[in-house]
Amino acid sequence: MTTQYDIAIVGGGIMGCAAALQMAAGGMRPIVLEQGDLGQGASGVNAGTLSLQIKRVKLMPYALRGHHEWERMGDAVGFKKSGGYTLAFTEREVELLHERQKLKAEAGAPISFVSNNALRAAEPNLTQKVLAASYCPEDGYANSSLTGQYFRARLHEADLPYREGTRMTSISQSPAGFEISTTQGPFHATRLLLAAGAWLKSAAALLGVDLPVQARINTVSVTERMPPLTSTVIGHATGLLTMKQKANGTVLVGGGWQGRGTPQEGRGEVMAETVMPNLALAQFALPALANARVLRSWTGFEANVPDFYPLAGALPGVKDAFVLGCVRGGYTIGPYIGRLMGDFILGREPELPLFDPGRDFDKD
Ligand SMILES: Cc1cc2nc3c(=O)[nH]c(=O)nc-3n(C[C@H](O)[C@H](O)[C@H](O)COP(=O)(O)OP(=O)(O)OC[C@H]3O[C@@H](n4cnc5c(N)ncnc54)[C@H](O)[C@@H]3O)c2cc1C
Repeated sequence: MTTQYDIAIVGGGIMGCAAALQMAAGGMRPIVLEQGDLGQGASGVNAGTLSLQIKRVKLMPYALRGHHEWERMGDAVGFKKSGGYTLAFTEREVELLHERQKLKAEAGAPISFVSNNALRAAEPNLTQKVLAASYCPEDGYANSSLTGQYFRARLHEADLPYREGTRMTSISQSPAGFEISTTQGPFHATRLLLAAGAWLKSAAALLGVDLPVQARINTVSVTERMPPLTSTVIGHATGLLTMKQKANGTVLVGGGWQGRGTPQEGRGEVMAETVMPNLALAQFALPALANARVLRSWTGFEANVPDFYPLAGALPGVKDAFVLGCVRGGYTIGPYIGRLMGDFILGREPELPLFDPGRDFDKD
């Protein structure tokens, strides 16, 4: 006899796993289907920055609550609340920094501006060329390479079934629910949640729905182990730099610089044209990086839609189907918005509003 699950969740990233756990806690029987390993998508290759300073203002309430989730997850995900500085080197960047951080502070983030003396006392190895800096004590980071193993353990604990190496290839819907064909055979479920990250467009297309999802190909680099250089998360007013030194001495550098490739083609390609300016900005901020060798640069696919707000709600035109993804800063916000999505599917009122995937994307 085939098992009929209450819901099949396609995508074992942070969104799908967090939603699955919430639904299981609420009494549902979900199954998670993941084409590779849990956390092998964006959730397992990202820069791990958990910074309120680089979040969109409207998403601040979600990011603030997301931070509390990370505190709860703690050491198991390499969480560290280090505090973070965002730097401006030119007058234009100073303006930008003031403009952006003021709005974020008004939205509830504990961000303040600090004097150059205070910055130098806290981070003596940063360049002397900083014109202005903001600080947020809540900022920090986690180790994204632990995402898969963390959620595998949580799913086990919750006795929640998941299948790795199981790619959804087609879906059909009947009054009995969904039949999801996969590379490991069919699965049956009453409801369906697509949490397929940068693969959301092709996943929704299997149900005849055209989601305006695009993939960005973000690049991250890591240096060899260095003596202690910085103890906080360092960002740049433009958002083009995030940097932190891990406990083992390596320095992780990101900032959304783009590589090449598509999610359908497999792993993206790193491009020297974008990695070099990313590393140059890192070295400008932290001159001692001139002595560091870069061990590895890699890419990952991040999904977004034209208005850069999440897709979180009912899949337009398909009864009992839902979609969750395209969250800017989705690693930070993922555990929280996953819970909200779980509540929504359980028929509970989510604590904060979700983001209708059927909205008009041409409006702001
Ligand atoms: C390089 C990089 C750096 C980033 N840095 C940060 C950062 O520092 N801080 C931050 O907050 N955010 C960051 N992000 C964003 C963040 O990582 C993502 O928003 C978040 O991880 C998305 O989670 P997700 O679960 O929606 O997607 P994913 O983690 O991509 O999960 C989707 C899963 O669906 C699976 N899947 C797809 N199609 C199918 C199918 N047909 N059948 C079965 N399974 C399928 C995929 O294999 C994948 O595992 C970064 C992203 C990237 C790419």
